[in-house]
Amino acid sequence: MRRGQHRARRPSAADIVVEDAERLLALAMDAAARGDLEYSSRLGGLVLRMAQANRVRLPRHIRLSICKNCHVALVPGVTLSVRTRRQGRRVYLVRRCLACGYIHRLPLGSAEAKASGGTPIYYYYSAVDPTGLGAGKEGDH
Ligand SMILES: [Zn+2]
Repeated sequence: MRRGQHRARRPSAADIVVEDAERLLALAMDAAARGDLEYSSRLGGLVLRMAQANRVRLPRHIRLSICKNCHVALVPGVTLSVRTRRQGRRVYLVRRCLACGYIHRLPLGSAEAKASGGTPIYYYYSAVDPTGLGAGKEGDH
């Protein structure tokens, strides 16, 4: 019997890169939460370079969790401030990196925002959860 024939799904190279990126991002988030921004941005930069070298497009929640300017992991309340801003009928999420001050605006809500890559707010918050700052930290107290 030939090997691999019956396996339902083999992870592709892209899957492996994304898995590694998730793991590195978790470490980068931890570092940022500890206040070690230099280490955090080194890990963040590594995630981006790894994806680029492998020509893998990272999932949105990973791309949104790394500062485009200084590559620090964006942890809400530590390295990231989030506000909403309304401009006419459009609502934006204004995300500011507290390490370097870089500001990234995300259109929210409207159909046209979605068409242009906007993020529904619930998705944004679910993307934030993997930082571990939400549920599951009670044991630390
Ligand atoms: Zn930054």
